[in-house]
Amino acid sequence: MRVLIIEDEIKTAEYLQQGLSECGYTVDYALTGVDGIHLFRNHQYALVLLDVNLPEKDGWSILQEIRLGSDTRVIMLTASGRLSNKVKGLDLGADDYLVKPFEFPELVARIRSVLRRSEKITETEALKIADLEIDSARHCVY
Ligand code: CA
Repeated sequence: MRVLIIEDEIKTAEYLQQGLSECGYTVDYALTGVDGIHLFRNHQYALVLLDVNLPEKDGWSILQEIRLGSDTRVIMLTASGRLSNKVKGLDLGADDYLVKPFEFPELVARIRSVLRRSEKITETEALKIADLEIDSARHCVY
């Protein structure tokens, strides 16, 4: 499953990339909103981890651009836990919201939770070829 991280702090981006790669995700990251949108338009991502405070283009406008033509899951990452920010993010179509600093296991749990929700929606599109069935949610092949 492919994940895109849009985060301008390179240490955070690299840390998240490494951690999520170890969890089995394919991870790309972009350090600016412009690069992030470019990557997003050129690849199929299951999930975007989106920092709010970014140079050039902030996380809110990136979220709006993503939502114009896609229902890719989005988790906002921000230093602000203010309620108004959470409401704004969810209103703009974010699937979840995590306040920095966060613990890595919580991020992974939220990613799994958000992806489970989208898997339920696309459950009918399970991979079936003849009598072979691939259940990616359970990592099983029947
Ligand atoms: Ca930032």
